[in-house]
Amino acid sequence: MVDSVFMAELSWPEYQAKVASGAPVFLPLGATEQHGPHMAMNVDVVLPTAVCERVARALGGIVAPTIPYGYKSQPRSGGGESFPGTTSLDAQTLALVIRDVIRGLAADGVRRLVVVNGHFENMWPAVEGVDLGFREARRDGIVDLQVMRLEYWDFVTRPGWGPGSAAGADPASP
Ligand SMILES: [Zn+2]
Repeated sequence: MVDSVFMAELSWPEYQAKVASGAPVFLPLGATEQHGPHMAMNVDVVLPTAVCERVARALGGIVAPTIPYGYKSQPRSGGGESFPGTTSLDAQTLALVIRDVIRGLAADGVRRLVVVNGHFENMWPAVEGVDLGFREARRDGIVDLQVMRLEYWDFVTRPGWGPGSAAGADPASP
């Protein structure tokens, strides 16, 4: 018996039992993107995943695998696409990935889902993905699905920190 908050570390019966008990599921959205010459490119993956892990532990929730690629990095927020290693999705692709994951989770019985964004440019593709996920769920006869979408940095209180920071000015900026 594995007791992990991470969905991918559970066996399917363990996952099924948690879902049946009404556990909320957290879906972190990340990016593979430069964060200055001194930092790893997985900052936007690590931070929302860590937030989701802590909240899921507190609430008895589940953390779905983090989506490791995000919408295209922009020069005045993420630094832009010209940095080697920054690897991004088209907006439509990201929206459809989110849609498909929501459809799959809803089919499993998940009814409370929190999409936790960790990359500034993901915001509107995430809105579209959630909207399409709702539409597909309704078409599948699921009318009681609840999805909350948020940016984790909206809850960071450190002054001067946030996605508006110029690229490189604050390497932790999403
Ligand atoms: Zn980013």
